[in-house]
Amino acid sequence: MKRTEPDTGNIPAFDLKRQYRSIGAEIDQAIRGVLESGWFILGDNVRSFEQEFSEYCGASFGIGLASGTDALQFGLRACGIGEGDEVITAANSAFATATAISWTGAKPVFSDIDDTYTIDVAKIEEKVTARTKAVVPVHLYGQPADLGALVEIAKKHDLKIIEDACQAHGAEYNGKKVGSVGDVGCFSFYPTKNLGAYGDGGMAITSHEDIAEKLRLLRDYGQVSRYDHRVKGYNSRLDELQAAILRVKLRKLDEWNVKRRQHAKLYDELLGSASVVTPIVRDDVLHAYHLYVVRSPYRDQLRQWLKENGVATDIHYPVPIHLQPAYSELGMERGSLPLTEQYAAEILSLPMYPELTRDEIKRCAEIIRSFPGPSE
Ligand SMILES: *Cc1c(COP(=O)(O)O)cnc(C)c1O
Repeated sequence: MKRTEPDTGNIPAFDLKRQYRSIGAEIDQAIRGVLESGWFILGDNVRSFEQEFSEYCGASFGIGLASGTDALQFGLRACGIGEGDEVITAANSAFATATAISWTGAKPVFSDIDDTYTIDVAKIEEKVTARTKAVVPVHLYGQPADLGALVEIAKKHDLKIIEDACQAHGAEYNGKKVGSVGDVGCFSFYPTKNLGAYGDGGMAITSHEDIAEKLRLLRDYGQVSRYDHRVKGYNSRLDELQAAILRVKLRKLDEWNVKRRQHAKLYDELLGSASVVTPIVRDDVLHAYHLYVVRSPYRDQLRQWLKENGVATDIHYPVPIHLQPAYSELGMERGSLPLTEQYAAEILSLPMYPELTRDEIKRCAEIIRSFPGPSE
C-alpha cells in the first residue's frame, strides 16, 4: 500500500508512547525520587496519592491496592459480603468484575443492561432475593450507571453499592465524581485506563471509616501494626513507584478527560449520518470516555474494513461473562440477557486516547462512512 501523506500512518487503538513523550521528564524525576529514597512499599507516595485521589473523587479515604480486581474484592469483603450472599452486576464487563465477587464466596447474579451499556436499573428488582446483599454497577466505557435510581433501590432492599469505576476516573453523576456515591468506589490503574500506572495498581475509596480500616487490614496481611494480625489478610499494595507516577498523572487527568470528551464530540458529529449507532449518553452525567464504542449489525466486516484501511479497533467485550466457560456453573443460557448478548455482537471500540489528533478522528470517521456495507 502506498502512503503519500506523512500523517496517514496507521492509527492504533491506543498508544501509551505518545503520552510518555509528553510527560516523560516529570515521570523520570518522580521515579528517580523513589529510587533514591530507598523506600518502596507503603510510604509517602502511596499515602499522598491516597489522599490526593480520594479528595479528587470527593471521598474521605483511599486505600491503594495492587489492582482494580482487588479493590472490588476487598471492597465487597469490607462491606461484609461473603459466602452464601448474592451480588447483582452486569455481564458486559471486564471478567474481573465477576471474579472479584466470586472470590469473596458470593455468587454474581447478572442483570441486563440498557442502551447506555450500563445496568438497567428497572430490571434489578426482579433479581433481588433474600440472599442479595450488594449491587456492583459498572460505569462502563466511562459512563456512570444510573446511580440515583440505584441508590433508591439499594435503600429499599438494604443493599450495599460497590461501584466498579475502573473505567471512569473523573466521570460524574449529577455533579458527584463516581466512586463517591456508593459505599465503596473501586478503581484500576492498569496502564490503559484514564488514569494509568506503568504496571498494575488499584484503589478503593470510601467515606466510611470502618470500611477504610477493614480495607487497610485486607491489603497488608491483616495487621493493624507490625506483627499484630487481626484477620487473615492478603498482600495487595499499591507500590511507591506506581504511586509516584500516578501523582504526576493525576494532575493531568482533568485535562486528558476534556480531550477525550472533545474527541467524542467530533466522532459524534462526523458519524451522525453514518450507519453506526454512536454512544447514548444520559444527560445527568459527565462521561469520561475511557472508550468510544459504536454499534453496527455488520460489526465484524466493518472492523475488517477499518483494519484494511489502517485503523486498529477492539471489542469490549466480545463474550459476556455469563456465557464464559468459567461461569457455566450458573447455567445461564444464551438468550437470558437479550440486550447484553445483542450488543456483544455489535459493539466496536474506536481509537480513543487524549493524544489522538483531530485528523486521525476525521480519517477514522471517513473510513467508516465509506464502508460499503455487508458483502453477502
Ligand atoms: C480494568 C477493569 C477491572 C480490573 O482492573 P485490574 O486493575 O485489571 O484488576 C475491573 N472492572 C473493569 C470494568 C475494568 O475495566
